[in-house]
Amino acid sequence: MRIQRKEMGGEMLFGVDIGGSHIRVGRVVAERVVQRTEKAVGKSPDTVAQQIASALAELGASGTVHLGIGCAGRICPQTGKVLFSPNLGWRDVDLAAEVERATQKTGLQLLVTMENDVNAAVWGEFRCGAGKGKRNIAAVFVGTGIGGGLVIEGKLVRGASGGGAEVGHAPFAAGGARCVCGRRGCFEAYAGGWAVEAHYEKMTGKRLKASEIWTRRREDPSAAKVWRQAIEALAHLLLTLSAIVDVEMVVLGGGIVERCEGLADEVASAYRDLVGDGWRAADVAIAKLTRDATLVGAALLAL
Ligand SMILES: [Zn+2]
Repeated sequence: MRIQRKEMGGEMLFGVDIGGSHIRVGRVVAERVVQRTEKAVGKSPDTVAQQIASALAELGASGTVHLGIGCAGRICPQTGKVLFSPNLGWRDVDLAAEVERATQKTGLQLLVTMENDVNAAVWGEFRCGAGKGKRNIAAVFVGTGIGGGLVIEGKLVRGASGGGAEVGHAPFAAGGARCVCGRRGCFEAYAGGWAVEAHYEKMTGKRLKASEIWTRRREDPSAAKVWRQAIEALAHLLLTLSAIVDVEMVVLGGGIVERCEGLADEVASAYRDLVGDGWRAADVAIAKLTRDATLVGAALLAL
């Protein structure tokens, strides 16, 4: 969503990644982050706007600045407002306006674009990561939760109210395990990091990280079982995406995919076994931009 367009001059491109705990601001040149800052994210919108303003100053922003902000939460596709961000505790926040206020004395010509952080990451992978050159991709990021997104015919799918492509909360098992979103049986409730850890703890009484459970799966039957279930859920998620959109490629990423060596291959193989005769399996690729995906994607959306 383009908030405001001011006169053009010498132009610079910046991206911002606002997650539940961090804020990263970076200057992007030729689709790469060339300079960045990272801090713990402030609580209130005006504190975050100040953090962005001081990061821009620190990174030498001047003249016309295209600023893409990828923010955790649901972003209104029409106004660019943060409608609801459970991670940040925000409702109906016009962050773009706050940033413009925080920078008004700097003489910057700011052009602010707001996007959901995961959508921005999907866009980054589409434009210059694993999905470069494709027209139709899905991305599934497995971390504590499962985020994802869709690019169809070269366009990011946002949905009617900014809640589109929430792939982790599509249903896997009717009436199944309770999910953090309030519903039951979501893919995330079987394959999100928190769910793998919770299922393992329920079986063994032990609290381990999902990646630690992954490394124990050859000698620990409970570890093998929870991960078998998670891989089955992820393979069905890829199948669901294929069935609905027939994407060319599914990009797998996120902290858990990065830390659990071999997981992406096992998911891809389980998915291909499900596709069936006469159907084309989507290519499965590993995300390339990792922690820069949101920052780069948000910046490219601001152009
Ligand atoms: Zn859910």
